[in-house]
Formats: sequence, structure tokens, C-alpha cells
Amino acid sequence: MKRFLIVTILAVFAVACTSVKDFELQPGAMQPMRGTYSDFMLSGEARLDDGADASVWFHTDGDCGKGYQVLFHNGPIDGTRKTGSLASVRNLYRSLANDGEWFPFEIAVRGNNISVKVKGTDVVCYTEPEAPYRNELHKDMLLGSGKVIFSGGSGKVAFRKVAIEKLPAGQHNPADSLPPVDEQTDDIIRLQQEDFPVIDYHVHLKGDLTQEMAHAMSMNYGINYGIGPNAYGPKKEGEGGSGLVLTSDEEMEAYWQSVKNWPFMRPLQGDGRKWSRSFSPELLDKFDYIFTDGMYVYDHGRLVRLWYPDEVRLEMPVQAYMDLIVDETVKIFENDPADFSANAFYLPEVFAGDFERLWTDERVDRVLKVLKDNNVALEISARYLIPSKRIIQKAKAMGLKFTFGTNNKDSNFGRLEYCTEMVRECGITADDMWFPSMSTRSERMKARDAAEKQQ
Ligand SMILES: [Zn+2]
Repeated sequence: MKRFLIVTILAVFAVACTSVKDFELQPGAMQPMRGTYSDFMLSGEARLDDGADASVWFHTDGDCGKGYQVLFHNGPIDGTRKTGSLASVRNLYRSLANDGEWFPFEIAVRGNNISVKVKGTDVVCYTEPEAPYRNELHKDMLLGSGKVIFSGGSGKVAFRKVAIEKLPAGQHNPADSLPPVDEQTDDIIRLQQEDFPVIDYHVHLKGDLTQEMAHAMSMNYGINYGIGPNAYGPKKEGEGGSGLVLTSDEEMEAYWQSVKNWPFMRPLQGDGRKWSRSFSPELLDKFDYIFTDGMYVYDHGRLVRLWYPDEVRLEMPVQAYMDLIVDETVKIFENDPADFSANAFYLPEVFAGDFERLWTDERVDRVLKVLKDNNVALEISARYLIPSKRIIQKAKAMGLKFTFGTNNKDSNFGRLEYCTEMVRECGITADDMWFPSMSTRSERMKARDAAEKQQ
């Protein structure tokens, strides 16, 4: 009986699974797998020369004129689409693999679900809805059945241990845990189809939001997440922001070790007014980016957190308080080398209702100028719905770069609705967006520290 089972299993395996000889793809070369496939599991290992790229098409025809494409392309977070991307549907902007190393990958179709793994980690879990949204350029990017073709892009890409297995219908991807997005009403798929980078740079594991939930949401929504803690430095009880707050190099190093391989971007939020002098510069440099905000102001020597209503004491006229906020914001972005200004133009609750009147052109211009002069990008905040359209248009005219960010307090947050609205209303293009490869914070910090030593 046992022998019969083994023979049967081997026979099934021989029919269902095809492996191919190791191969190298040159630019423009095509390497089709034998046969046609609907549900399948493709696995193998890839190695890319510096800057090289290639892709795998599936459910396609001989000219790769239909079906889906998975990209192989490593390198810095510079706005180009990275390894594992399901092209123009679930574009990814950080690669888990590096050029020059062999890394395993897996691409599977199970029913309407497409999944991609890189180095054993799920990076795409996309369920094609009943009514998918596709633009004219990608109108045939749909499931069906068809060929699997490896396609060379630029440079040299090697593949080994490549095997493909037909899967029986009705299999389920265990990573597929959320209902598919309704693409007829979804803004994110529209940006994805245009290869506009969809990145929420400002997510925190706060409240009930766990790493696993964030991972599932990111894949389901098609939004790349940057998830970070606060970096404060030595602090007393009751100081600083909420959530995870790092206070020493030891804590920061331990945190880095715990997140360096996770499938998100790995930022820090500079918290308070001492963070940039409280950690070793080498440690700060490990993170993908660092952002901070203008929400800590010194009011006559007292550090006020503007988002705590009872800390905001209006012992001066509102106009004077506004000038204080502007002065402090200028100081922050002149001194603390952050990559972008989060929660920008935030006003304390007590006068947030007067936003447009209090943020006079003169005040707005002072803040935008300090950002521009210090190469700091401007966050469009999905949670606070700021800056307003007028300010975003001014910033765009000045040539500032933008990021999208939510600053969530738990798992109950949206899909960058205000950001996508501002993209449409202000005509923001991918060229207006900021990426970590543009960061100059490290040089700015070195220059600042050298200047201070000389004094
Ligand atoms: Zn935050």
C-alpha cells in the first residue's frame, strides 16, 4: 500500500510540475515556459546584476500583449518599481532583495487571487474583483489563462531552480484574508494604473494595529506603507508622543534589528525638540527616512504639544500665538535635519476652525521657504486634511516635493482619500513626489554638527 502511494504521488508530480534548466536573460530576450496555465505556482531564484531588471508575464500571449507582469528590479527607494511588483496594479517601491544576491521568489494564481513572495515574504496579495478597473493602456491586464514568459529588461538577470506546477481549481491563498476592493469606486487603483507611486509614509503601529494587520491592509489596498516609531531621546514620564518612543541608541539599535527585514519602509519620526542630537548619526542613517513636525513649540520656555488642548494656553493674542508657531516651525526645520514635514500647518484645536484666515500668505511663505531652503518635503496629511489646497498649490509652484501620510492612531484609517483628492485638484504628478533616494538629511546633519564644533 505504502509503495503504491509513493508511486502515485511521483506520477502526479511528474505530470503537474515542470522545472527548467537554469538560464540567464539578456535585455529583450524572452523565455517562455512550456504549456499554458490558469491556476499555477511558479517558483525559483533570481539574481540581478547592478541596476538590471526583468519580468515574468503570466496569463499572456506570445507577445506579452495581455495578462499580468511581475517585476524584478532592486536598488534604492527612488520611485521606480521594485521586485515583486504586480505591474500597474500593485506597484511596490522597496525591494526586499539586493543586486548581486540569489533570492527566492514565488508567483501564484489561485482562482481570482494573485500572490507574489520575495525571500519567503508575501509582497503581493491581490484579488481581481468582479469588475476590475483598467485604464486604456492596461485594458487586457486581466486573469484568464495563457503562457508564462520570462522577459529580459535591461542588464543581466539569472534564474535558477525555476519550476512551475499547475494547481487544481479551488485552492485558497492563506494570505488572502480581506474582501477585494471595489475598483469601480477606488482611487488607489487609478493611481496604480498610471504608475503614480502610492506610498503612505506615515503609519504607526498604534492602538489595535499590529504588524500582521498592516501587512494585510497594505497588500489589499495597494498602498505601500512606511511604519515607524517615535525617536525622542532621554525623556521624563509624560513627555513625548504616544506609541513606541525610542529614548536611547540601545533601544534604537534593537528596534532596527527587529524591523530591518520587514516588508514596509523603515522610517523614524523625530519626536520632541532634541531627537536629532540624542542618537548617533550612524544609527539614524540606517533608517529609510526621518520625518518630524512643527507640533512642539516653546512658549516662554515651556514646551507645548499643540495637539494637547490643555497644554495650549492662550496667554497672548491669537495673532501672536500664530507668529510663535511660525517662528518655532522655522527653527525646527533649520536645525533638525528631517526629510519631510509631517502634519504640516497643523493648528491647535482651539483655532483650527480659522485655518485659512490665520495662515496668511506671509506666514505660509515663511514656512514653505524654510522647507524649500533645507530640502524638506511636505506631507499631505490624510488624517488632518492639511495643508489646504491653496497651500499645496503654492508649494507646488515653489517646486517643493510631496509625501502622503496618515499618522493613524489605530487600525481604523483610510486609504489616502484626501491625498488622492489633492493629486487631482492640484495636478500633482509623480515628478512632484519625494522619495528617500532624494534625502540630504545625513549631509545636513554632518554640516550642522561640524559648524557647531567650530563655534
Ligand atoms: Zn506620527
